[in-house]
Amino acid sequence: MKDRPPIPAQLKRDVLVEAGHRCAIPTCKTYPVDIHHIIPYETCQKHAFDNLIALCCTCHSRYHRYEDIDRKSLQIYKTNLGLLNHRYGEIERRVLQQFCDKPELEIIRLMGLSEIFVLFLLKDGFLLKITEGPHINGSPSWEEYRLTASGRQFVDNWRQARSLE
Ligand SMILES: [Zn+2]
Repeated sequence: MKDRPPIPAQLKRDVLVEAGHRCAIPTCKTYPVDIHHIIPYETCQKHAFDNLIALCCTCHSRYHRYEDIDRKSLQIYKTNLGLLNHRYGEIERRVLQQFCDKPELEIIRLMGLSEIFVLFLLKDGFLLKITEGPHINGSPSWEEYRLTASGRQFVDNWRQARSLE
């Protein structure tokens, strides 16, 4: 342990930013967070981005002490996080997070003219625009979107540590 160099500041930052400075487990998202090596440092002897994940102290100890989160799940959470960041924008990820946090939620109301902000969720068939509110100066005051069956499946896969690829 004493020969272990610290994680370089930029690498640490990249891992924290990837997870939005919150726990990388979608049902948790708590902060503050620690940086965890998915494959233990003792085994891999290096700090590599793909092997590092941000975990809150509760999830960290659930992994180390109670072993009710396993390494395979962490690996999938990490891969899925990268995929979500790559494929979707900030608002889309927040919309997905809402549906993840509230399994009973079917419809989300966004402000008017939000289509551009959820474009890739619409294109992927995960969201469907269903209605909009009264127009003000020619623009809808709000819009409602329904999570489709495939959207629900996607969110369930994410929550349950199944691959999103
Ligand atoms: Zn956590």
